[in-house]
Amino acid sequence: MTLPPGTAEIVLALLGLCIGSFLNVCIHRLPLKQSVVHPGSRCPDCGYALRWYDNVPVVSYAALRGRCRSCARPISLQYPLVEIATGVIFVLHWYAFGPTIMLPVRLVFAAALIVLFLIDLEHQILPDVITLPGIVIGVILSLFLPPGPLMSLLGVAAGGGLLWAIAEGWYRLRKVEAMGFGDVKMLAMVGGWLGIKMVLLTFVLSSMLGGLVGAVLIGSRRADMATRVPFGTMLAVGALVASMYGESLLAWYLGRLGG
Ligand SMILES: [Zn+2]
Repeated sequence: MTLPPGTAEIVLALLGLCIGSFLNVCIHRLPLKQSVVHPGSRCPDCGYALRWYDNVPVVSYAALRGRCRSCARPISLQYPLVEIATGVIFVLHWYAFGPTIMLPVRLVFAAALIVLFLIDLEHQILPDVITLPGIVIGVILSLFLPPGPLMSLLGVAAGGGLLWAIAEGWYRLRKVEAMGFGDVKMLAMVGGWLGIKMVLLTFVLSSMLGGLVGAVLIGSRRADMATRVPFGTMLAVGALVASMYGESLLAWYLGRLGG
């Protein structure tokens, strides 16, 4: 059976919008230690319980012009943006992995990264409830799938160990915390899913991105040297790039070194 061209992209975009809607709930509730399943969404102002037609990704937001149906309180633009970003990221995964078992596996990984990206950005925390099971699940999956159990375990050790050493060294040197242990656990999780090679690439990419973002913020006088760029947010972007394009990036880079 052949499907019309573009079918996979459309299905993944729609799936991404719906998953993105659930990720919004996770982003909003996990830092408050609330259940992500129950109760249903309510307006924080008037308590209006959202009906199914208020919960259609992007469409409801547009139809309601970004306001609560009951009290007209503005709804954060973040909700539709997360839904759209998730849809786009899901489609990019199709181009990166195609119809393979790695597609659903890496979609789950990406979903966790999206949640960590925003929670760290807003609250400067990386909930254990994602990172700790994330480490375990990554290692278990590696028993059957790339990068394989050895690379996965080395990834956990390198990811966690590297950041732990930096955090510990910085603390002894400057007596301030350069990063929290949330970052350590998150990079260990990335190592478990992607293996040692890609966790190192993730660290390099995230550090470069963090430096770039910091420079732009300082340049535009929106921050000073003491402003902390949430590192988990940078790690999420680095890990997402490494997950989808890491092998091609490394091949290109090593090719340049060789040529
Ligand atoms: Zn309301």
